Amino acid sequence: MTSGKKKNSIKATTVNKHDESSSSLALVHVDVDVDLAPIVSSYNEKIRPVLDALENLRRLNIAKEGIQLPTIVVVGDQSSGKSSVLESLAGISLPRGQGICTRVPLVMRLQNHPLPNPELVLEYNGKHVSTDEKNVSDAINTATEELAGTAKGICNTPLTLIVKKNRVPDLTMVDLPGITRVPVHGQPDNIYDQIKDIIMEYITPEESIILNVLSATVDFTTCESIRMSQSVDKTGLRTLAVVTKADKSPEGLLEKVTADDVNIGLGYVCVRNRIGEESYEEARNEEQKLFESHTLLSRIDKSIVGIPVLAEKLVHVQAMIISKTLPELVKKINEKLNNSLHELENLPANLSSFADAMSAFMHIVSLSRDTLRKILLIGDFEEYPEEKQMHCTARLVEMLNSFASDLQNSAESIGTKDFLMDEIKVLEEAKIIGLPNFMPRTVFLTLLQRKVRGVSHMPVNFVDDVWNYLETIITMVLKRHSENYYQLQVSTRRAAENLIAKKKKNSIQHVIQAVEMEKHTDHTCNPE
Ligand code: GDP
Ligand code: MG
Repeated sequence: MTSGKKKNSIKATTVNKHDESSSSLALVHVDVDVDLAPIVSSYNEKIRPVLDALENLRRLNIAKEGIQLPTIVVVGDQSSGKSSVLESLAGISLPRGQGICTRVPLVMRLQNHPLPNPELVLEYNGKHVSTDEKNVSDAINTATEELAGTAKGICNTPLTLIVKKNRVPDLTMVDLPGITRVPVHGQPDNIYDQIKDIIMEYITPEESIILNVLSATVDFTTCESIRMSQSVDKTGLRTLAVVTKADKSPEGLLEKVTADDVNIGLGYVCVRNRIGEESYEEARNEEQKLFESHTLLSRIDKSIVGIPVLAEKLVHVQAMIISKTLPELVKKINEKLNNSLHELENLPANLSSFADAMSAFMHIVSLSRDTLRKILLIGDFEEYPEEKQMHCTARLVEMLNSFASDLQNSAESIGTKDFLMDEIKVLEEAKIIGLPNFMPRTVFLTLLQRKVRGVSHMPVNFVDDVWNYLETIITMVLKRHSENYYQLQVSTRRAAENLIAKKKKNSIQHVIQAVEMEKHTDHTCNPE
């Protein structure tokens, strides 16, 4: 441990000597907190692979699977200085200024790398565009126009900027469009809601750290971004505040950040960003001077001022959320993976020969037959526990019962209604010479046949209903067993329909014949 610490401090001083002019981050790590330096540098080596892995997951759009990644999300009201803060951290120029500049989520991945020349790559819409410090701002604007159009609209498709640069902190952050109340010319009327939706989507997950950028020139309690972050992070435990423009409004800043009226759990850092055409080095020097010499600002504790302090804090916060969320993340990914593997196993094997296809087909037929036997004959519903419609034995009994009661309740079956009148009428028309007090057979036949005719449509309708029901069932069973084979699904369905149509026709013919026979006799041999 001791030797590790020593080694790293040496490394830090070497850096210091090596490049006197630069007051960049590594140097200030040494200045501000010598004890942290070894942790930070050894820690960079450890965190890098994790950040790489997270980056890859982000690229795979894992959020679509419902898995959230630990992310530092930059939010703030419009022109509060969000892009300026990111610029200061990365030491590169981003589009900034008045009005809405950031129109798509910008994922910024900072990566420390040893070579003197920075490497900048923009990734969006599956494209990788290499750029450099001078052109990055234009490249971002071009990409933004491609994603969100040339007007002032916004869009939720992220743009990734990878910045590999000497002595930047290893950090990944997402810059979001600033909150704006009033649509300007060319912006849709619901611009506020659109921006709010994007911001909420990013800050709602528990895995997000909210970097709330507040301008020193405003009253924090009136900040819309504070209201939004409070709505998802009531205790403030995952909110860190950066107060920009300390130079513009130094009065009362110390009181504002010590009073903490707005519940910032992770604390405040006051900064002064680059102004105008200053270089990043000049800006850091000016910032350092400002907080050292300004009468009011110098009273603010040094542990909460300056971009280097912010960088260090962010690196720690990032490590904290990653270590907190990683176990759960791994678990969720494994769960998803297992589910997907399971689905994969259930996918059909590749059928390359006629024999393979035939055996797959026979397998489907035999599975379907077994299922139909279970639900239609045995009354075993384990394959469809919740689907009442598929419980065929029970449904068929119900259909039979209802057919029986329809027959009983039909007008023809109600013996009392007009029966005597009908009988008298028929008797009058059946006057023949015959034995007295005996009803002539023709009268009985006429009455009976009239009733049989009255109900003769009912068995035919019943058979029709039963076959329609069976057709639905059989189609569903076949569809289920052949769901992995689309072509087969179409043709088995057609085959089933044809077969059922034939069977149905036979059944109906059979019933019609039976009914016809009943119409001609005065007795029945048919128990049904
Ligand atoms: P965003 O809309 O939140 O991304 O804000 P920008 O980063 O585009 O900044 C808006 C304006 O505020 C720009 O003109 C910046 O130059 C300016 N600005 C940002 N930070 C500071 C600061 O610390 N001091 C001063 N004086 N101006 C700043
Ligand atoms: Mg911006």
